[in-house]
Amino acid sequence: MNANQIECPDCGGHKALAPQTEVGQLLSCADCGARLEVLSLIPMQIGHAPQIEEDFGE
Ligand SMILES: [Zn+2]
Repeated sequence: MNANQIECPDCGGHKALAPQTEVGQLLSCADCGARLEVLSLIPMQIGHAPQIEEDFGE
């Protein structure tokens, strides 16, 4: 069992997080395309990313 495995809240698919994953990092599920956010690393928790169009373009 990989300690960095999380479960997609939408499709239940398992994903492996990179070792350098940080809280607040945004991910997308490769299986269902859900936008996910890392909520906590210990314990590993993941939730839906907020549907906010943020503009950090500058
Ligand atoms: Zn998924």
